[in-house]
Amino acid sequence: MRAITVTPGIAESARLEEVPEPPPSDGAIVARTMALGVCGTDREILSGVYGFAPPGEQRLVLGHESLGVVEAAPPGCGFAPGDLVVGIVRRPDPEPCPACAVGEWDMCRNGRYTERGIKERHGYGAERFRIEPDFAVKVDPALGVLGVLLEPASILAKAWDHTERIGHRARAFEPRSLLVTGAGPIGLLAALMGVQRGLAVHVYDHNKGGPKEALTRELGGSYHSDPESLRRLSPDILIECTGVPAVIRDCLGATGPAGITCLTGVTEPGKHFDLDIGEINRTTVLNNDCVFGTVNANRRHYEMAADSLARADKRWLARLITRRVPLERFDEALDHRKGDIKVIVEFAQ
Ligand code: BGC
Repeated sequence: MRAITVTPGIAESARLEEVPEPPPSDGAIVARTMALGVCGTDREILSGVYGFAPPGEQRLVLGHESLGVVEAAPPGCGFAPGDLVVGIVRRPDPEPCPACAVGEWDMCRNGRYTERGIKERHGYGAERFRIEPDFAVKVDPALGVLGVLLEPASILAKAWDHTERIGHRARAFEPRSLLVTGAGPIGLLAALMGVQRGLAVHVYDHNKGGPKEALTRELGGSYHSDPESLRRLSPDILIECTGVPAVIRDCLGATGPAGITCLTGVTEPGKHFDLDIGEINRTTVLNNDCVFGTVNANRRHYEMAADSLARADKRWLARLITRRVPLERFDEALDHRKGDIKVIVEFAQ
C-alpha cells in the first residue's frame, strides 16, 4: 500500500512510497483511509524540527488527523465494517505514569508517551491503518468526510474541559465572553464551542475580511483584526490559537478579573521580548487570573468533540475545509497557501 512518509529531522524529506500492510500489533480494527487532515505539527515535522521515527526505523508514516472506513473488526468490539472511525493520536507511556495509568495520556508525566504520525509510532497517512478498539472513536455517519475534523476538535474539547474545571474553582463561575486569537481551524473550532456554550464570542486574526471573518460572523461572533482589540475586549476566557509569540505576549493580562487564558499553540523557542513581569504578575495575582497550557486529548475529549461536531451546522463545518488534495499530489497539501483553513488529503475510495 502507499503511504506518506518522512525522515524526521531532515527537511523536505516527504514522499509517497510503498510500505508493508499495517501489522496486527497496531490493533485489531482494519480501516481503509478516507481522508487525512494536515496541520502545523505536520509542517513542523516536514521542516525537520519535530517528529520521531519508531525505534530502529528511519522513516515515519506521517499523519495524525485520521478518518477511515472500517474494513474488518473483531466481533463485539463495538465496530463493524462500514463504520467511520478516527484514531486517537497518543498512546500511554509503557511505565505507565499516574496520568497514563488512569487513561489521561494527554497529561503524561514522564514524556514517554508515543503519538501516531508524530512520535515513535507510524501515523494514519497510509491507504490502510490498523487501530486498537480502545483507541478508535466512532464518527457520526452524517458527518461523512467532515469526521476528519474530529482530532483537531478533540484538542479544543480538552481546552474547554480544562478551562471549565479551572473556572469552577470559584462558585460564581459564569463566563459571558470569549476571545479566541487565531482564526485557523483550531481557533474557529474553539469559537464554535464557545458559541455552543452561549458565550459572546470574539475572534482576533490578522487577516482582514475573507472566509475567516465570514465564518466567524456566521457563527454569530465578532471579528477583529486590529491588535489593540486584544487589550480592549477584556474577555472572561481567552483561548490563544495562533502560537505567535507577539500575540501570546499581548494575551498575558488581557482577560477580565478571574479570567482564564488557555494557550494551545506549540511555538518554536528563540523569540525574546521586554516584558513588564511586575505588571503581568500584579494583574494576574490581584485578578485571580489563570494562564495555562494544554496539549493533546484523551478518549473523553474525543467523545466530547464528536458530540460538538454532531451538533454543529454541517455547512459551516464543510467550509473549514478549504482544499482537498488527492493522495498522488499530497505534497500540495503540505504547503501552506494563503486562504487555507483546513487542508485535507483525500484517499481514493
Ligand atoms: C496534535 C496533538 C499532539 C501535539 C504534540 C498536535 O498537532 O494534535 O495530538 O499531542 O501535536 O505532538
